[in-house]
Amino acid sequence: MGRARIDLGELVAIPSVADPRQYPPQECLRAANWVVDRFAEAGFTGLGLHETSDGSRAVFGVRPAADPTAPTVLLYAHYDVQPPLDEAAWHTPPFELTESGGRWYGRGAADCKGNIVMHLTALRALGDDIGVNLKLIVEGSEEQGTGGLEDFVVGNPELLRADAILVCDTGNAAVGVPAATVTLRGLANVVVRVEALAGEVHSGMFGGPAPDALAALIHILATLRDADGNTTVTGLENGQTWSGAPYPAERFRVDAGLVAGASLLGDGTVSDMVWARPAVTVLGIDCPPVVGSAAAIQPHARARLNLRVPPGTDAVKAQDALVAHLRAAAPWGVRVTVEREALGQPFEARSGGPAYRALAAAMREAYGREMAYLGQGGSIPLCNVFAETYPEAEIVLMGVEEPLALIHAPNESVDPDEIARLAHAEALFLSSYRK
Ligand SMILES: [Zn+2]
Repeated sequence: MGRARIDLGELVAIPSVADPRQYPPQECLRAANWVVDRFAEAGFTGLGLHETSDGSRAVFGVRPAADPTAPTVLLYAHYDVQPPLDEAAWHTPPFELTESGGRWYGRGAADCKGNIVMHLTALRALGDDIGVNLKLIVEGSEEQGTGGLEDFVVGNPELLRADAILVCDTGNAAVGVPAATVTLRGLANVVVRVEALAGEVHSGMFGGPAPDALAALIHILATLRDADGNTTVTGLENGQTWSGAPYPAERFRVDAGLVAGASLLGDGTVSDMVWARPAVTVLGIDCPPVVGSAAAIQPHARARLNLRVPPGTDAVKAQDALVAHLRAAAPWGVRVTVEREALGQPFEARSGGPAYRALAAAMREAYGREMAYLGQGGSIPLCNVFAETYPEAEIVLMGVEEPLALIHAPNESVDPDEIARLAHAEALFLSSYRK
């Protein structure tokens, strides 16, 4: 762990934000070369930088096993980081790894440089004693969402093919509670537009009989939730339950920052609502802002909606249901048009195979307790690309980014015990996993 502290300090000191408007691209190149050098020391060969479709460079390398029939494990992480955002809100310099209260602070300390150091620590613990074929992919534009690695996987399927893929860019439910994330929700966005009048008219002269486009939009949007806050899209199931680890309601209240007196929505548990069921969110509404608004009835209004699609539901069908629901909910004969935007399928890992069994045993030994199965409410498009390209592979999402890490926020940090225990678990997994 002394070596892990030094490694993470060096890596956090490189401001590898993959946005040339904010940081020089040479910083990403430095981080990529740092990864190459350290994994070369850990016995990887064929290491190189591969330019992807968004201009970022992904580090790839291999470490063949003595037995070529041994299974292949692909290790994933990313070396780019979020910008520090509000630097004044940081209690320590964002690009200087700083210990405080038993945690190590710095941008990327957890997301995802802590996971790169976790891989290195596991590999060092094993030395030459590794019975599986290893492949490494460390991308350089994950935080930008520009899809460079997704295209690279599709374009180079044989290069990255593996029996088990460790996507190390998530975290445990809490410090000391080992977990694998096995589902992700997909998404379906739409823009709904309402037209009711040829133009603005005075609310005194016409208010009453004149159809109000904004009122109609509010009416339509209100049909998307019932009184308890359940998402109610006609034809879309909303009663699913989560069979893995619970998400304690009290912790969710704190994580989400509820104001005193506010209730959690829905008639399911928190894990049902956030991991197993659909959720609709109004992302934006076009209508006059309060400042500058006049006594006029709005002739048209529109809203962008985000529907989170749970595992087991087809995202295209969910989007179809939402479009039909919005059209059917239109009151007063107003004209409603719905434009389809982003669409992403949910993800569900195959979690019953030998890799998951080996990982669960490794986590049990490293942590002294059972591995929990978590969901995630958001999407990771790369996981869908891996699942589609390698349908036989067992995909595991894990890592050092537990909730206290505050990834993407000021004062990001990592718990060094999480690096130690997860590296221990990873090493045990790599030594015990067989097909
Ligand atoms: Zn990340």
